Amino acid sequence: MSVDVIDRVRAFARTELVDRQAYLDSFADAPLPLYRRFHEAGLANWWLPAEEGGTGLGLEDSVDVVSELSYGDAGAAFTLFISVLGTSMVSLYGSAGLHARYLKPMIDGGTFCATVGSEQAAGSELAKITTTAVRSGDDLVINGDKYFSTNADFADFLVVIARSTDNPSGVAAVVVPRDTPGVRIVKRWEMNGLRSSATYQVSFENCRVPADHALRGPGLRVLEVGLNASRILIATTAVGVARRIRDHCMDYANTKTLRDAPLTGNAVFAAKLGQMEMQIEVMRTQCRSAAREFDAILSRPDAADEFLRRGTLKSALAAKMFCGQTGWQIASVGSELFGGLGYTHDDAIGKLVRDMRYVAIVEGGDDVLRDLVFSRYVVPVSKRT
Ligand SMILES: Cc1cc2nc3c(=O)[nH]c(=O)nc-3n(C[C@H](O)[C@H](O)[C@H](O)COP(=O)(O)OP(=O)(O)OC[C@H]3O[C@@H](n4cnc5c(N)ncnc54)[C@H](O)[C@@H]3O)c2cc1C
Repeated sequence: MSVDVIDRVRAFARTELVDRQAYLDSFADAPLPLYRRFHEAGLANWWLPAEEGGTGLGLEDSVDVVSELSYGDAGAAFTLFISVLGTSMVSLYGSAGLHARYLKPMIDGGTFCATVGSEQAAGSELAKITTTAVRSGDDLVINGDKYFSTNADFADFLVVIARSTDNPSGVAAVVVPRDTPGVRIVKRWEMNGLRSSATYQVSFENCRVPADHALRGPGLRVLEVGLNASRILIATTAVGVARRIRDHCMDYANTKTLRDAPLTGNAVFAAKLGQMEMQIEVMRTQCRSAAREFDAILSRPDAADEFLRRGTLKSALAAKMFCGQTGWQIASVGSELFGGLGYTHDDAIGKLVRDMRYVAIVEGGDDVLRDLVFSRYVVPVSKRT
């Protein structure tokens, strides 16, 4: 099963992404027909459990799926996997009714979900968010301004993180259908990279949803659980982009001569590419290892509670930080290899560098994640490796 899905994803990436870099790098509308063809190939939301009609592919195999997609285009990969953040939360902490209403159609319709957490003033201090979900009869009424949310405009539903006295922790994760009156897309951000993806500023004005659309559990902890899956796959994007940089460097070096010989025969070039290959191997190994830990917890009968107990996994934080930093080194070495051409829009390396940058920023910059590793895994002596 996994080999079949990975082969089909690789074929999709080769036919739809690899040779369309200029188009995918344009700031046109999000290329929804492209994403529809991914669904028609039977691949959309591939990670959803078999009970929901998905392929049931685990996160460990999803690492190779995302590596293939991001070899083709990181923005397309991000668009196609980031729903995993919301679906993980709904799958683990949503009622059977929410599963039937929101998760099942994602297979039949190839639809998206978006997570709406970040706010301008709160920044990474999510405990300071000001969006509210206030009880009114049998409903929750949501009000607030959110800063970034990928796929929000064309998603079927949003998982909104909001302050709520209904939740004992003070924060709830609430499922909001995209077509709820009062959900407004303020603008689409113009990003430096990942330009085939679409991230929006969103506001909520008196959005009314049934109170049973709140997920079980403390909202910020539930978000942390979902972030385990998406951070591992964001880290994996670096593997795919790095593989593409390596191949692009090899193609260039086969045609570029230095001292009357191809650059590929030069010892300095060989050392750089040897180093790159080692880094790619370690990044992939860390992503698969973190994903294996996630899959192992998910397979337990008490997965939802065990995830709440563990919160953010050290392996997932390590994958995201290591791949963000190492991917950035690879992008830097790669761009230098092309000389002046590497600083122009004429060569594809510029896009790869811009795409790589997001790995160390989205879902927690390195300063934030280092702080998290310190407080969760260094201060408590029992958690140290
Ligand atoms: C392409 C893209 C897609 C996105 N998609 C989504 C989405 O779908 N849903 C969503 O909710 N959000 C989304 N985001 C938001 C993204 O996750 C945040 O922008 C990111 O986590 C960084 O947080 P921040 O912008 O609040 O900046 P901050 O984390 O507040 O950082 C600002 C500055 O403060 C510093 N800082 C912050 N905390 C610490 C600390 N503890 N110690 C030291 N320094 C610190 C940082 O280093 C930085 O210099 C997206 C962003 C982008 C760019």
